[in-house]
Amino acid sequence: MSSWPRDWRELPMAGIINIAGSSLDYKTGTWRARKPVLYPDKCIKCQICWLFCPDMAINRLEDDSVEINYEYCKGCGICAEECPTKAIEMVEEVG
Ligand code: SF4
Ligand code: SF4
Repeated sequence: MSSWPRDWRELPMAGIINIAGSSLDYKTGTWRARKPVLYPDKCIKCQICWLFCPDMAINRLEDDSVEINYEYCKGCGICAEECPTKAIEMVEEVG
């Protein structure tokens, strides 16, 4: 049996970097294994993908269309799952 702590109180101390507004500095898109691809011809501009994206990685444009910000998109696939017209498809990240 492992000697690893079996109770959370035995876990080693951890920490976070708590600098307000620093999230923009961390390009979390590099964590991605799959990426969403948007097909504008299928998009009805409902912005449901923007509403559901947990990383605010979908931008709303002036004409109500959307674009994916690949610098911060982690590839979770929620936008593709929620899009009512299947205008977003998840594909393997290449390179
Ligand atoms: S959820 Fe789909 S249809 Fe709606 S704005 Fe996003 S991509 Fe377009
Ligand atoms: S894959 Fe996830 S993180 Fe990326 S745009 Fe869609 S909902 Fe946001």
